[in-house]
Amino acid sequence: MSAAASVLRIALPLPLPQAFDYLPPDTDTVGADAVGRRVRVPFGPRELVGTVVEIAPTDPQVGDLRTALAWLDPEPLLQGELLASLRWLARYTQAPLGEVLATALPAALRRGEPLPDTHAWAWQLTEAGIEALPGLRKNSRPRRLAEHLHAAVLHEDALDRLLDGWRTPMRSLAARGHVERLAVPASSQAPLPHPGPALNAEQRAAIESVRATDGFAPFLLDGVTGSGKTEVYLQAIADCLARGKQALVLVPEIGLTPQLLARFRSRLGVPVHASHSGLNDNERARTWAAAWRGEARVIVGTRSAAFVPLPDAGLIVVDEEHDASYKQQDGIHYHARDFVLVRGKALEVPVLLGSATPSLESLYNARNDRYRLLRLSRRAGEAKPPQVRVIDVRKRALQAGLSQQVLDAVRAALDAGGQVLVFRNRRGYAPVLLCHDCGWSARCPRCDTPLTAHNGGRRLQCHHCGYRKLSPPACPDCASLALQPQGVGTERLEELLAEQFTDVPVLRIDRGSTRRKDALEKHLHELADRPGILIGTQMLAKGHDLPHLTLVVVVGIDEGLFSADFRAGERLAQLLVQVAGRAGRAGKPGEVVLQTHHPEHPLLQTLIRGGYHAFAEQELEQREAAGFPPFAHLALLRAEAKHAGPPMDFLRAARDTLLPACAEQVELSGPLPAPMPLRAGMHRTQLLLSASSRRELHAALEAAMPKIHALPDARKTRWSLDVDPIDLY
Ligand code: ADP
Ligand code: ZN
Ligand code: ZN
Repeated sequence: MSAAASVLRIALPLPLPQAFDYLPPDTDTVGADAVGRRVRVPFGPRELVGTVVEIAPTDPQVGDLRTALAWLDPEPLLQGELLASLRWLARYTQAPLGEVLATALPAALRRGEPLPDTHAWAWQLTEAGIEALPGLRKNSRPRRLAEHLHAAVLHEDALDRLLDGWRTPMRSLAARGHVERLAVPASSQAPLPHPGPALNAEQRAAIESVRATDGFAPFLLDGVTGSGKTEVYLQAIADCLARGKQALVLVPEIGLTPQLLARFRSRLGVPVHASHSGLNDNERARTWAAAWRGEARVIVGTRSAAFVPLPDAGLIVVDEEHDASYKQQDGIHYHARDFVLVRGKALEVPVLLGSATPSLESLYNARNDRYRLLRLSRRAGEAKPPQVRVIDVRKRALQAGLSQQVLDAVRAALDAGGQVLVFRNRRGYAPVLLCHDCGWSARCPRCDTPLTAHNGGRRLQCHHCGYRKLSPPACPDCASLALQPQGVGTERLEELLAEQFTDVPVLRIDRGSTRRKDALEKHLHELADRPGILIGTQMLAKGHDLPHLTLVVVVGIDEGLFSADFRAGERLAQLLVQVAGRAGRAGKPGEVVLQTHHPEHPLLQTLIRGGYHAFAEQELEQREAAGFPPFAHLALLRAEAKHAGPPMDFLRAARDTLLPACAEQVELSGPLPAPMPLRAGMHRTQLLLSASSRRELHAALEAAMPKIHALPDARKTRWSLDVDPIDLY
């Protein structure tokens, strides 16, 4: 054994808590600067990509170590603040560090591909090319190309604009040594920044507060829809760029639209790097690499963008901070908003959380002065808040779930030249297919919940597990032909509205109708400012600016009023306020019509009379009385298997392991069947931990989790721990 040898302690993407020891792939001594480099290692019969997390001295007591196969990077990819924050995340979520690090890397890097190039390419004529130019045939494509290059070195995207199909003649010039390709910085071309509107007093006050901070400070920008929160973000980002720093902006899954990116690009005048699920693996890895190199100055992305490296961080923004898409529901159960708060603290930069309907957690933090509250209480510019009208439909005749009053309101809005949004948060034709003779209804065999009817009732689909089949021609129980779709989904609304309003376009916008990411943009573009009807699910509740909308109709929210989940009320209130906020954004006054069988429901009454904040106050009181977040801290152990026994056995054993570790403030409930006890053929069971003190909760988890991993039953079920679950399903 050589005296200089040391051991690489490597985190591998495996569901095991420990790191693994290997000898370095070469004989060079390795120092602490190797921490954060990726290596390829043999693991059983496989090869894995891992990250060095520690350098340890060789221990003569330990037998033969395997040797790592190869270094994948000359420098650490994960280092400094990012690596430290990821270590924190692994501890906080009680997840294996190797899995956390793998989650933080884009897929291409996780597979071991090299950090991609992020520069752009340009072409120039060589000496030989300059000499050969006069000899090239006049007006031939190579000649014209060479003439362009004689005038200037040209970027490939400039060539794209200049000369269609330039690559073929370029290849022939290159083959003769007449041209050469150069790597050039990608960020050298940027549009000129466009100034925004002059900010109003509240916006200026918000900006001044952010400017006045030095180091970490969390802000809650609490501003009604259309109050100009995005303008505040843009100004804060411009300030950050002026200080020579990078800005990271998180937006919800459905909020990252081409519209939004275009607005950022044109206003900031620097390249804006996007990171979202519409990009392929290469594009995502390029954004990550550009951030790592510090070339990307503004990164706008969805949940996973919380993991981009920020070597020159200056600001972090989280738009619509209440949005549920920030919580990852499988794999590592992280919350992107909460994680960037931790990063912001480590990076010593301000973190700006914005929403028209802040989460109760954030409002509570603002109330307790943990966040600084910035209010935008009025709509910006000329826009007025919409008028809300509740329509009581008890005992009224409905057509496809719509009352005559609603249809009249739609007609009036269209006649006045406006656009109408009909919001129903349920896609498909009808939520149930029912036998009128015997009461049988179509259910998912894998989830035991009703199947949604699609295509006018001809097909059935499970919205939980994706199971699909054709509707039966007759009732399987009584052979009756009287099978009827019950209730109303967006498809059925479209059918009715298209029948009733033949003179205007009727567009349905939900996940069923807009598979392609740009389809929605195209539809909206075609509609332009003409009168028309949009029917949509929550996809339409945010993101797209719909300036010609004058009426928003909300139907089918009644079932949401009586959900058992502790967060259901908050979700419904947020959705209603966001949807209502779509009406009357620019100049034109807006109206909201809410059709319900429960006009006296306290949630609706409070929301309409007092707005979101009155609702939130009331809801916080109820959460406090019931001992739910933000007044308690939760962790949920979930287990599932093909049979109901093993998950129950495992969670009983887990409970026995946890009990001695739990201080008095930590309560255990369960194991119990999950509120949805069967899903996709799996029997689901859960054990809930609840504590008034976060420290006690984590102490219990830290003490018990290694033992729970080692339980014999742990191998017989699929299980996971979710710290701070956002729902209990
Ligand atoms: P939010 O993000 O709060 O929904 P936006 O920043 O998108 O609001 O602003 C809503 C609309 O009002 C946009 O069209 C924006 O250009 C405009 N706007 C924002 N601030 C001002 C202002 N100070 N004066 C005039 N118009 C403004
Ligand atoms: Zn029947
Ligand atoms: Zn199902």
